[in-house]
Amino acid sequence: MADHKKSDGKAVSFPPRVQGMNGFEADKTLQNFLERVDPEFLERRKDLLSEIGAFALGELDAQAEESDRHFPATIEQKVTDPVYPEQRRGHVILNARYKAVQQQLYKWGTLADCFDKNTPESHMLPFITQYMTGKSDISTGCPYAMTHPVALVIAKLAPPAVKKRFLPELLRTDGNTPIGGTWATERHSGSDVGATETKAFVDGHGNAVLQGLKWFTSAIGFDRFLTVATARPDREEDKTGKGLGLYLVPSHIDEDWSVPNDYNVRHLKNKLGTKALPTGETELTDTVAFQIVPPPHGLKAMMIALGCSRVHNAMSAAGVMHRAYLESVSWATNRKTFGDALITRPMVQKRILDIHTEWQAGSALAFESARAFSDLAADKPDASEEWTRILTALAKYKTAEQALWCCEKSLELVGGNGYTEEYPVARQFRDAMVLRVWEGPEQIQALELMRMVTGKGKGDFEYIDRLEKIIHELPYSMNPEKMKLGKLVDEINMELGQLRREPEAAALAADEFLSKMSNILAYGLLCEQAGWDIETHQDHGKKLTAQHFFDRSFTARTGIQFDMTHLHKHFEAVVKGEPIPAHSRFKKPTRRP
Ligand SMILES: Cc1cc2nc3c(=O)[nH]c(=O)nc-3n(C[C@H](O)[C@H](O)[C@H](O)COP(=O)(O)OP(=O)(O)OC[C@H]3O[C@@H](n4cnc5c(N)ncnc54)[C@H](O)[C@@H]3O)c2cc1C
Repeated sequence: MADHKKSDGKAVSFPPRVQGMNGFEADKTLQNFLERVDPEFLERRKDLLSEIGAFALGELDAQAEESDRHFPATIEQKVTDPVYPEQRRGHVILNARYKAVQQQLYKWGTLADCFDKNTPESHMLPFITQYMTGKSDISTGCPYAMTHPVALVIAKLAPPAVKKRFLPELLRTDGNTPIGGTWATERHSGSDVGATETKAFVDGHGNAVLQGLKWFTSAIGFDRFLTVATARPDREEDKTGKGLGLYLVPSHIDEDWSVPNDYNVRHLKNKLGTKALPTGETELTDTVAFQIVPPPHGLKAMMIALGCSRVHNAMSAAGVMHRAYLESVSWATNRKTFGDALITRPMVQKRILDIHTEWQAGSALAFESARAFSDLAADKPDASEEWTRILTALAKYKTAEQALWCCEKSLELVGGNGYTEEYPVARQFRDAMVLRVWEGPEQIQALELMRMVTGKGKGDFEYIDRLEKIIHELPYSMNPEKMKLGKLVDEINMELGQLRREPEAAALAADEFLSKMSNILAYGLLCEQAGWDIETHQDHGKKLTAQHFFDRSFTARTGIQFDMTHLHKHFEAVVKGEPIPAHSRFKKPTRRP
């Protein structure tokens, strides 16, 4: 550990490299959240979470560096049917280490345990696994973010024969788990999945062959895969409108996984980031598939899968932010300029606290969406689909924005070295951009939000109710936050009312609602956790973070700030993850005479 003296004589310690740390043990934010919302889960799973945390910033990270720089996905032409040797098919080659880390996530039972017939584990487990994975490797997180929803969709919607054959395969823990995929995007339609043109020819038993071109097919190239694909049956009544079915496409057509299905990866995308992740353009050439749901239910079924992936996206983004924070502190602690460590410089401290605050706020949103989705997946009686969808849209959008911002700022803090591929922040920065694009960019999340708050359901009421519950339950020590949150809730409540009266305004204002509602909810959730931290651990740190988030998000400040914020005065405690007491005697700020 480096140990640099600050000007006040106190030391801040941090290791010179983040790789090798434990992504769970170094994360009080996650631990406190779990202790508050599900202490039994924490108790039951903390050893496993610690193991995953060590893996995330250990082997997973080392693999990510290697795969990104030296062994990205490649494509080769293969003879797949000896009867037609001239008919070659494009197949993807992945490096063994990349495939091994993917399998490791399932070997722990992170997915299988959720579908255990007797004592099903909370779906928080795969979401937290994603959060850990995000700290190192989005390229590994993406296939995992699709395997989970594929298992869910099969478990909940597939006909018994399909479920019986394929669900146990997805729940394997022996290193041979088929990896999930969700193939919706076509050349002319990414956001507009309803415009799918891929054709399905289905017999009376739900056996299908698919013909078409899927324009983005991630996770193709694993030794075994199982992907869900939208397609339009070749029936007169389905040629218009949203008559889509959802089909399960296996990489192999036999039960022994030895006879390859017919498909052709005609091109691998050359991407800005996520180089290890195979993203192909895949031709479905009479590809064997099994009907999960017939038309017109395919679109809704795919949306359920995408809902789950979007929560994974938010969890991954939260993990990315934690990594950006750790990298910033690590670098600043160990880098000296003008004779002193960067971490002693007030401007650097301010920047680190900003990154920390965005991570805290983003994590609050991501964790809340994971919790809501887990409750829904477990069919808990008080789970609400509308609330989960609102939350997912807010969390998906906001965390992706924050993750990229945090990566950008941490790269800048690491300086010229950060801009080189020799340091992990460059890869994290390139990769983080995808979190904004896939699973639906900003406007698509805004439209989803509008469906929930202006439609037949009462999503807007659920949003307000959740915030009012927070306000109601905040302890006395959070009174100033109570007032501020109350004002924000009153204002957005009025604006939501106006939107109900003028729904046509949504086309213009949806993105502003998305932004404002995500900020208010993030602030509310920070306050909720802060109240609990104070009551349970006498720790006022989160309260100061909530105040800082409020100032960053809602205060249009024009004047220069000459005084340190309260949070800044406790910089060292924040970095060390130590509790911050109430009513500290803050040192008087020095002013120019
Ligand atoms: C690395 C990578 C991997 C991917 N893997 C997969 C995969 O495995 N499976 C899969 O199905 N897809 C995959 N995708 C595709 C991804 O989901 C889509 O790119 C994404 O959903 C956006 O669709 P699009 O690219 O067609 O953009 P478009 O739909 O063309 O949208 C372009 C822009 O217009 C905005 N927009 C669209 N409609 C509206 C509207 N009505 N009002 C206002 N604004 C609008 C969007 O927000 C976006 O900013 C992948 C993408 C990437 C980058």
